[in-house]
Amino acid sequence: MGFASSAFRFSGLIVTLVRLLAPCVLAFLSAALLTPRTAAGQAASTACAARLQPSWSPDAPVPGTLFTIRVRGVEPGATPQGRIGSEPLHFSPDSSGEWRALAPVPIAESRSLAVILTCAGAPVDSALHDIPLASATYPLERLTVAPRFSGKPDTALAARQRREAQRAAAVSARAHETPRLWTTPFSAPRTSRITSTFGSGRQFNGTVTSRHMGTDYAGAVGAPIRAANRGVVRLVDRFFLGGNVVYIDHGEGLVTAYLHLSKHRVAEGDTVQRGQVVGEVGATGRVTGPHLHWIARYGAVTVDPQSLLRATSAPTAAPTPATSTRSFLEATAAYMW
Ligand SMILES: [Zn+2]
Repeated sequence: MGFASSAFRFSGLIVTLVRLLAPCVLAFLSAALLTPRTAAGQAASTACAARLQPSWSPDAPVPGTLFTIRVRGVEPGATPQGRIGSEPLHFSPDSSGEWRALAPVPIAESRSLAVILTCAGAPVDSALHDIPLASATYPLERLTVAPRFSGKPDTALAARQRREAQRAAAVSARAHETPRLWTTPFSAPRTSRITSTFGSGRQFNGTVTSRHMGTDYAGAVGAPIRAANRGVVRLVDRFFLGGNVVYIDHGEGLVTAYLHLSKHRVAEGDTVQRGQVVGEVGATGRVTGPHLHWIARYGAVTVDPQSLLRATSAPTAAPTPATSTRSFLEATAAYMW
């Protein structure tokens, strides 16, 4: 009772103080908790996270792409951690003494992207950095498809689509727990012409608007589709929109998926090598004709698959055991501050 009453008086005092001093309090809090908030990441205090110096390439990533973050200033024996939104970053040391991670920019972001870097073992020791973003210019397409795919789905169909989306999302969440399974750059699943690029806006039958969240490759029914990199097949099924699908978990949050197949050539649980045929081009699901719809995800963030090819084209150091065995839960627990 006494505690509650003092707590009430105390909180009343705080409210008054906050009203009077809100701008100063906010400035103080952001300076104390989020130092340094600078693009260059100069150290502004002696805290461990403040000494981490991030850099990134490209200089201004485009929304809807993967890019590379590098961190210097990591103490010997320490492993930097980080996150963008709720997605953990998986840093590995490279030969120059820097630590590198792939990082996603959600397509809905604009102007800047907040990255939080944390020193392992010190959950409150975090620094926030703003990465400037380039502006994305994605084109608009108008398509006509069979009416059953364009109307509002009935309850049962909506439930089916939700279940299918949840199963795909579960593959993405699990990929953060999987160690990195690849050591060579990602490669395109087909060498054929790209018929629709990532990010374009789509109007179906003039009513439904959506974004094309993958890359379409041309192909006749039966043409081979190859795994973009080494990974474990997590999902093989027939979805309403995606038709016959294959989802591959490459580890450290990366997933690629292959849609509209006429035939699967792998089973759930298979470990596949880069370039291995995982299925054949088809016209199953919501399509206007046979093609491959190729998806790349970092956790829950769908990115331009071409940016996955670009971001992994540079030589990448093999992951250290400390990084490759870090679980999603451990990483998340460290960010609860
Ligand atoms: Zn597509």
